[in-house]
Amino acid sequence: ILSVRNVSKAFPSGGTVVHALSDVSLSAGPGELIGIVGESGSGKSTMLLIAGLLELPTEGEVWLKDTKVSAPGADLDAMRALRRTVLGFVFQKANLIPFLTAEENVALALTIDDVPRRAAVDHARGLLDALGLGHRLGSMPARLSGGEQQRVAIARALATDPALILADEPTAALDSMRSRQVMELLRLIADARHSAVVVVTHDQRSLDLFDRVYTFHDGRIADTA
Ligand code: ATP
Ligand code: MG
Repeated sequence: ILSVRNVSKAFPSGGTVVHALSDVSLSAGPGELIGIVGESGSGKSTMLLIAGLLELPTEGEVWLKDTKVSAPGADLDAMRALRRTVLGFVFQKANLIPFLTAEENVALALTIDDVPRRAAVDHARGLLDALGLGHRLGSMPARLSGGEQQRVAIARALATDPALILADEPTAALDSMRSRQVMELLRLIADARHSAVVVVTHDQRSLDLFDRVYTFHDGRIADTA
């Protein structure tokens, strides 16, 4: 589903240039759970932003399902629709809208795309129920535990049934038991929905769940296992 080909990213910084990524190639197929690990500053988040069509590469290409979607000079604004329909994002913090309930947070992802409110809410309930939050539909985010908030964020990312899910340290704020549960959930989503799921993580203990793990070092892939 995702193919990143020879991508480099340089950020001008003061008088110099930071090479955040240098000639990185990776892929994620249907049903695959892919890990990205590496020390702080190694380029993991930059990779996810480029794969997620939120940043342009300085060199190289991003392909989604046999279509080249991004390369230097591409128009990211024009990819809005693609981002909404093909991609789902999960960030380190759940970033739920604090004055909307769990189900409203999830339904919003759909009503933005003109899905009728009734259908959006039904779909949101089904997803939250499947993620074990059927009893928390009407809860405000502040009343949810960190793990529950992260599961709402995952439900929101799944709402549009994306082919590719990108998650940047989704378990960073969770204890090891909750982290494991969220990672197992992502594994299940890859298996059951045949989505490609790419996860940046520092959580060494969950790496057994992954099909492939890329280790980043200094903007390059130092190891693939
Ligand atoms: P962490 O584990 O701390 O989240 P990371 O692997 O996600 O680190 P990135 O955020 O991808 O690392 O950053 C890679 C390098 O690119 C770093 O040196 C960072 O300072 C630099 N960088 C990232 N974004 C920008 C930006 N918008 N402008 C300038 N430099 C940037
Ligand atoms: Mg990062």
